[in-house]
Amino acid sequence: MVVRICTGHVGTTAGDGATDRQSVRSVLKLMSVRAFLISTLFAVAIAGCAKEPEDYRPDIDPEERQLGAEQHPLLLAEFGGSYDAPEALYLKGLGEKVAVPANLAGQCTFTLVNSDVVNAFAVPGCYIYVTRGLMGIVNSEAELASVLAHEIGHIVADHGERQQKRSLWRQLGVLAVGLVTGSEALTRLAGNAAGYFTLRYSRNQEYESDDLGIRYLTQAGYDPNAASDMLAALARNEQYMTRTRGQDDAKSIPEWARTHPLTENRIERSREAAAATGAGNLPENERAFLREVDGLLYGDDPAQGFVMGRRFAHPVMRIGFVAPQGFTLTNSPQAILIDGPDGLRGEFGGGRMPPGGLDDYAAAVVDQMLRGAPAQAGQPQTSRSNGIPLLILPVVVGTQQGDVQITVAAYDAGSGSAYHFVMASQPAEATAAALRELFLSFHLLTPQQVAALRPRRIRVLSAGRGDTAQSLAGGMASDHPLEHFLMLNGRSADQPLRPGELVKIVAFAGARP
Ligand SMILES: [Zn+2]
Repeated sequence: MVVRICTGHVGTTAGDGATDRQSVRSVLKLMSVRAFLISTLFAVAIAGCAKEPEDYRPDIDPEERQLGAEQHPLLLAEFGGSYDAPEALYLKGLGEKVAVPANLAGQCTFTLVNSDVVNAFAVPGCYIYVTRGLMGIVNSEAELASVLAHEIGHIVADHGERQQKRSLWRQLGVLAVGLVTGSEALTRLAGNAAGYFTLRYSRNQEYESDDLGIRYLTQAGYDPNAASDMLAALARNEQYMTRTRGQDDAKSIPEWARTHPLTENRIERSREAAAATGAGNLPENERAFLREVDGLLYGDDPAQGFVMGRRFAHPVMRIGFVAPQGFTLTNSPQAILIDGPDGLRGEFGGGRMPPGGLDDYAAAVVDQMLRGAPAQAGQPQTSRSNGIPLLILPVVVGTQQGDVQITVAAYDAGSGSAYHFVMASQPAEATAAALRELFLSFHLLTPQQVAALRPRRIRVLSAGRGDTAQSLAGGMASDHPLEHFLMLNGRSADQPLRPGELVKIVAFAGARP
């Protein structure tokens, strides 16, 4: 999971079995490594300047609308698909409510994305996305409305348009999906060239959207203080992720958590803007919201596989691997994103085994990634990983920033299924040992291991007399139950629970809390 609101997206997973869709997926999931190369060719200048309030006239022109409609299914395919449950209808209804004061009633498409990554983003054409990961850490209807209002702010202030020249968007075609949304996956894999690919909104653009969002939130009838509460919830989640990952492996704290915290300053600024509206007595609708999210899938979707620290396991494909110390895994819909030390980056994915076997599969992975870019393939090596046939193919690609070493490890998992790692690094001896450890960790899961991989859901409980945070946290399916409980509910350990108060816990699906 990754935390980010409007500053980048992310995603989660490997494919889901040997289906024809996978040929499409293979192309999509290789985009990020292509970005590593293509990023050397483009530089995007970002300019931001504040507007006076009366200058905001939402105009979604037909071309933007069409582009948004074209990108929508591709975006969903990349980020995990839509989460089609009652929560999605609730989100749409709430979005419409907030769109009214922005003069965008009936003009936006609100989608709940099936990803545990904590994120929300807006795409020109007024396509607005919220992940179920984000919905899980929200504690009131007003907080969720503040996220939607903030995203609508980006649309109204035309940040996407200012950030991204449309010609460039078109030029890059499918690849632009990641650009427009500031895809975390693409940005991360862009490596040294990340600066060129940085499509995060500027701080001033975030402030501008915060201000617009608070205006729409208030006009839609919600307590404007929910905006700063929401930013605080995001910060809490980010701190929790950093801390719990830190206990597992200090080096695995992702870069975004170290360099892009949700600053106290932004939270404070939002609090002051809310106070200035003089509308602090509007409702937050906590209970209505909590009843809506009862049962929401939490964490990894079994169909996309489970990331547990440095370990990945897929109960449907029945495969897994363990990354070496110092590596970070992120479950994205198209691939498992892998970050290692010294700028080592790559992905894990799968596809159908071609008739020509592993040689052809590895060659296809390289071809799809490079698209004819000049490259020199080395000698393929064959071996086995936990009994599974393995082929390792090294390729050197020349870029403007020097040689990049690409290493493909392809596996024949039987029954026509193939899997692969594709890792990019600057050529260095030190990374070879880490890659070898990673490649040799690939294995098939035992039936017992498959059975242990169960989905988790949000459960909403009513606190009874004598219940404490500690007692309720006891029912959490989490490695850090109390900390996790406090983060999810925005509480401190010494804050007493009122009888009848609703709180969220995370429990295994089917388990009685
Ligand atoms: Zn934003």
